[in-house]
Amino acid sequence: MNSIFTGISELYTPTERLTQAALAVSEGEIVWLGPESALPESYRGWPTTGLGERGVLPGLVDSHTHLVWAGDRLEEYLRRARGESYEAILLAGSGIHQTVSATQQASEDELYELAQARARVLLQGGVTALEVKSGYGLSLEHELKMLRVIRRLRQAGPQRITATLLAHVIPSGVKRDGYLEMFTTELIPEVARTGLAEALDVFIDEGAFSVAEGRRVFEAARRHGLAIKGHAEQLTHTGATRLICELGGLSADHLEQATEQDWRALAGSGTVGTLLPLAALLLRKPFPEARAMWDLGVKVAVATDHNPGSSPLFSLLLALQLTVALGGLSVEEALVAGTRHAADALGQVCWGRLTPGAVADFVVVDGPQALTPLYHWGHAPIAGVYVAGRPVMAVR
Ligand SMILES: [Zn+2]
Repeated sequence: MNSIFTGISELYTPTERLTQAALAVSEGEIVWLGPESALPESYRGWPTTGLGERGVLPGLVDSHTHLVWAGDRLEEYLRRARGESYEAILLAGSGIHQTVSATQQASEDELYELAQARARVLLQGGVTALEVKSGYGLSLEHELKMLRVIRRLRQAGPQRITATLLAHVIPSGVKRDGYLEMFTTELIPEVARTGLAEALDVFIDEGAFSVAEGRRVFEAARRHGLAIKGHAEQLTHTGATRLICELGGLSADHLEQATEQDWRALAGSGTVGTLLPLAALLLRKPFPEARAMWDLGVKVAVATDHNPGSSPLFSLLLALQLTVALGGLSVEEALVAGTRHAADALGQVCWGRLTPGAVADFVVVDGPQALTPLYHWGHAPIAGVYVAGRPVMAVR
């Protein structure tokens, strides 16, 4: 199917800005973009959609979410707001463990309905692609159940979804070595065999996995052809970032406690540094040094870290705005962090950008200025969303 989109007052690719632009799309991919006046003759007969002199942005990419969960953590949220620490609540057996128990008890259908509704909210905020992690199952059976839910989300669409197997924490009452043995010799091979995830993530931190344990899990994942990424330097500094860079990981995520040495490792390896602003704020951790990392050459991405505990965030735009206000990125850089760099963090170099050969996933802004969604806080002025050149949220 071929189509032309005209009536674009302003478009960000995201690294370049075009005005009075047109897009040519064939079979869901961009085949041409440029000034409308320069549209090649060969495309002029294609069916044309006028976008009404509106701005266009690449579809946003949320490269770090824990979208599949049951129960809620409102009580914990209230306690933390009164000053109790996340770590103390976790060590007392609540926190993540509460979500694990609710998620284990929930059926696959229940988890699917819950996650699909959340994905819908992200879509209304311009997110056309996202990564979803397992990690609240904590057993072979329940981790596979979570990954099957993610597969259903992917099959149902409309968003593009990548699945990540997450080694989150050691379940309470289970021996560390036994759990690691199960994870590396049963779960990872089964996930690789069934294609239920393309990547593996380890939460390396105090109260979760050590760097040595992380290495063991990453190496098992690599042997089975899974890409690797990790939760790194969130609560404490562990050296996880340098491990992930050394192993050629896609991204090291969080980085609240990362040092300049870690930033240099990221810049040198090309591993994306993914920042999760709301988790830093709600857990009262240092806000990630987005500006300094960017200036050192780190490919900085920003994601919601959507989860019921540390980041109950349903808006990637808000995460980008926080990174501008508190992390020192320019608005244009934040857009790159939430599109192109985020796609790179998923190993998807044809997502998150509007260039020939990339997927035709884009956001039609409700107004002529394309950056307005990053300017209006708390309300996304979005008129429509397209995935593969087809409207998945109608243009108003
Ligand atoms: Zn996370």
